Amino acid sequence: MDDNYRHKGLRKKLVDTISAKGITDQRVLDAVNSIPRHLFLDSGFLKFAYEDKPFPIGSGQTISQPYTVAYQTELLKIKKGDKVLEIGTGSGYQACILAEMGAKVFTIERQKKLYARTKEFLPGIGYRTVKCFYGDGNKGLPAFAPYDKILITAAAPEISENLIEQLKPGGFLVVPLGGGELQVMVRLTKTKDGVVHEERFGGFRFVPLLKNKAND
Ligand code: SAH
Repeated sequence: MDDNYRHKGLRKKLVDTISAKGITDQRVLDAVNSIPRHLFLDSGFLKFAYEDKPFPIGSGQTISQPYTVAYQTELLKIKKGDKVLEIGTGSGYQACILAEMGAKVFTIERQKKLYARTKEFLPGIGYRTVKCFYGDGNKGLPAFAPYDKILITAAAPEISENLIEQLKPGGFLVVPLGGGELQVMVRLTKTKDGVVHEERFGGFRFVPLLKNKAND
């Protein structure tokens, strides 16, 4: 794995950038500082790997902007040992950030090519504990439920009841909510008696969460 002083220097700058934009949780910043984001992009794109921008990863999808990844992660208040369900594996970068912070990560992707690529790629860069699944994330992953935290990394026009059911009492669900161009970041908290509270944060732009069956 080629992760040299130049990559580390660029990464440090990226951490400074997202910190200046308002990310304060040091454990999130440390995770961004630890993960070689350039390995998630084709080797010709090194120049783009440490810019605070999203980037195309094939199958019409993108690796999210580092600030957005950090923002969603911060809202989840990850604790070591948390069982986390991610909807929208994509490149696997967000899943690695969660794993780096000590979470047990289960992640679902509906694009078969991306699923297959990321499932094979992650163990090769040392993230062997992230469990990748192929399917429609709107259904969640009942076999391993309930989860301490659920993270949706695509724009959802609505929040599927399945996901709320699969959240532990006391757990958080973070989702960019909205079917249009712009979404609002929402955090749901499920209280011990099953009531769901909603908090709203800033505006973001995500690729859409697609409905119904997984596709090949
Ligand atoms: N978390 C990713 C970025 C995700 S982009 C990363 O770190 O790179 C959003 C991803 O959600 C895309 O890969 C898209 O294919 C996937 N997606 C869209 N609808 C989905 C669904 N219903 N179930 C699971 N994945 C879905």
